Amino acid sequence: MTKDLIKISQGTLYDPANGVDGEVRDLWIQGGRIIAAPSDPATKPARTIEAEGLVVMPGGIDMHCHIAGPKVNVARKMRPEEKRKAEVISRTDVTHSGTLGSVPSTFATGYKYAGMGYTTAFDAAIPPLGARHAHEEFDDTPCLDKGFYVLMGNNHYVMQSIQQNEPKKLKAFIAWLLTAAKGFAPKLVNPGGVEVWKHRQAGNVSGLDTEVDHFGVTPRQIVSQVAQSAQELGLPHPVHIHCNNLGMPGNWETTLETMRALEGRRGHLTHIQFHSYGGGEGDENTFNSKVVPLADYVNSHPNVTIDVGQVLFGETTSMTGDGPLGYFLSNIYGGKWFSSDTEMEAGCGITPIKYKNKSLVHALQWAIGLEWYLLVDDPWRVVMSTDHPNGGSFLAYPQIIRFLMDRTYRQDVLKTCHPLVGRRSTLADLHREYTLNEIAIITRAGPARILGLTNKGHLGPGADADITIYTPHENKEIMFELPRLVIKSGEVIVEQGEVRDSRIGKTLHVAPAYDVDAEADIQEWFEKYYSIRWRNYPVDPSYMHQPELIGSPNHGN
Ligand SMILES: [Zn+2]
Repeated sequence: MTKDLIKISQGTLYDPANGVDGEVRDLWIQGGRIIAAPSDPATKPARTIEAEGLVVMPGGIDMHCHIAGPKVNVARKMRPEEKRKAEVISRTDVTHSGTLGSVPSTFATGYKYAGMGYTTAFDAAIPPLGARHAHEEFDDTPCLDKGFYVLMGNNHYVMQSIQQNEPKKLKAFIAWLLTAAKGFAPKLVNPGGVEVWKHRQAGNVSGLDTEVDHFGVTPRQIVSQVAQSAQELGLPHPVHIHCNNLGMPGNWETTLETMRALEGRRGHLTHIQFHSYGGGEGDENTFNSKVVPLADYVNSHPNVTIDVGQVLFGETTSMTGDGPLGYFLSNIYGGKWFSSDTEMEAGCGITPIKYKNKSLVHALQWAIGLEWYLLVDDPWRVVMSTDHPNGGSFLAYPQIIRFLMDRTYRQDVLKTCHPLVGRRSTLADLHREYTLNEIAIITRAGPARILGLTNKGHLGPGADADITIYTPHENKEIMFELPRLVIKSGEVIVEQGEVRDSRIGKTLHVAPAYDVDAEADIQEWFEKYYSIRWRNYPVDPSYMHQPELIGSPNHGN
């Protein structure tokens, strides 16, 4: 018997990255990783997990959610009325207590993701000044490997470098900033627009070619030049883009222009549902879906990947680095509103919202999200997300899977929606149903590939032993909401919803090499304008739980 050798026996494997689609196989684990089957057939494992009749997939990967950092924490505090009603997780021998609601506590976030079979999650919007805070919350978010994207689409140094036509300076700054924050990828949120909002009443940019006051640069320049830098730095994940004009009728043209602005470079457009609207500005009577022309573009341009940002009906909390959007939404919903300015770097807006199936706008948002899953031909380039908690909670993923795998259920819910949805979108005509293999792609194999995580999202030798085992059920929502077993780094962490092991998980980050001569200029600028000293800014590695460097540093510059 070999110590720490585990065998998952005779499960039905879905491992699309390795071309395995529903084959009955054994899976072997040692040292927290998947290994090839031992050559000696007499090899005895220390533990055998019987998986006959069960479905085995890699652990789920959420590539776009909001689970840590300053704005998430504000959202937790600003809605005591919701927290009072929320489900509570009680303390056990292995877990802390926690609260749910639309913005769960750190501990509850980890337990609930894992309980649903997810083992990796990326927070999508951390201002570098909030990096320490995010790492500290990661340290209290169990059961998951985590990373975050660094906000830089309204960063003064980024815009200044573009204005001065200094691509080398821009590239060095992006590499330095990612390294200082211990982040994973560059994130643009309403590039340029948040900066305009900061110094003009109700200010914003109106499209890709509006000049940003005082900087004289356009969103188009920010998108193309950050995409170029990310490519030259060889980052595992390309630029991650929240386009301009989120939520506005007619914004589909801005979204199309953003894809064109990439000029063939890799780029990931996030929560694209919120960016796929036709119709006249401020005119609900003409609001309609423009997924068809946008999906046509995505289908014919392999450099573009997307996640959906599915809307689900019910109450949630909107939180965004898009300051002017937060203001816009708070005016619509009339509830609480929080807005903040992160000096030189970013902004943020938070407001409670409620999506109703009888509202034409909300029902169309729901339909538009589903159209995206069903109209992108290649499942490797569309990823499941709710932009948690913006479109809905991550806890809705099993329901989304049911919408995708069960056309009848989808059409039944469509019938309860505002009657015009059928005419203003193509959802009623879409008959596609996802297979289990395609679900495995959009929830694990695809995001792993888009993120450049070679050890995740598959079940081949060398992969992290993050594995979810499901009991098959005709109702796919039931199947996916309560896995039989969840294994993280080779240990069983959840059994039928009960957390057995609350390990914290790794922090995934990048550290691209850069020209150190560039630091002198960054330092000078820093000491002149920031409220924090240059030497205190970079996050010390002691803030990170089990750091894991992804991608090799680029020595080419
Ligand atoms: Zn987001």
